[in-house]
Amino acid sequence: MLNIQAVPAFNDNYIWFIQEQNSRKLLIVDPGDPKPVIEAIEQQQLNPVALLITHHHSDHIAGIKELVKHYDIPVYGPKYEAIPSLTYPLTACDDLKIDPAFSSLTVLDVPGHTSGHIAFLIEGNLFCGDTLFGAGCGRLLGGSAEQLHHSLQLIARLPEQTKIFCAHEYTQANLRFAIHVEPNNADIKQRMIDTDALVMNGKPSLPSLLELELKTNPFLRCQQPEIILASQQFSGQQLTSSAEVFTTLRSWKDQF
Ligand SMILES: [Zn+2]
Repeated sequence: MLNIQAVPAFNDNYIWFIQEQNSRKLLIVDPGDPKPVIEAIEQQQLNPVALLITHHHSDHIAGIKELVKHYDIPVYGPKYEAIPSLTYPLTACDDLKIDPAFSSLTVLDVPGHTSGHIAFLIEGNLFCGDTLFGAGCGRLLGGSAEQLHHSLQLIARLPEQTKIFCAHEYTQANLRFAIHVEPNNADIKQRMIDTDALVMNGKPSLPSLLELELKTNPFLRCQQPEIILASQQFSGQQLTSSAEVFTTLRSWKDQF
């Protein structure tokens, strides 16, 4: 069993700490800021063993230099992106062993937000960086809509009980778009209520369950008739594939 905690950074980033229960060994995902990371490590007397990096944006990597200097630990990250101090360049693989204290990880190639973005899956917990968000997905900042659509479909095929650990607290804003696209979706309405309650109490809206994303995230619902219709109305065109619906939704959200 894993113990996973969110270390907030900047305005709305989460740096994820992964531990096995009853162990002080620590994996750190996307340390954009070294300061809260070092503070939390010292406060809890943890023993970092590796950094896991999903993509090259500075709010995910800017803490690497200082943390590597401080703890002398390896950096696991995407092979096809410029990651400082990268020790182990990764593309999709099963059975990545980092430390005997942890189960092996699966690495997924999930390009789209950036062209070389990867995600880490460990014991049914997905660390997906800026690929999938609560009720939304990343913007296109290097990859194509086709790539991101394909990557989200890959995630959608994971077991429904997979927990989704995104790198930003965007769920409330994303739900406002989701309900605009699907005004009759009762699951979205309920998720808005639940998310507002969490955020109002200062709690992360994450992780979410893939099962919930499949019911409420428009970017995973491109085959739903109501979403196809709404996207066609927005674009003024007949959309003949879910990739076209996805591309339309992504640009609609950019303007929303
Ligand atoms: Zn990013």
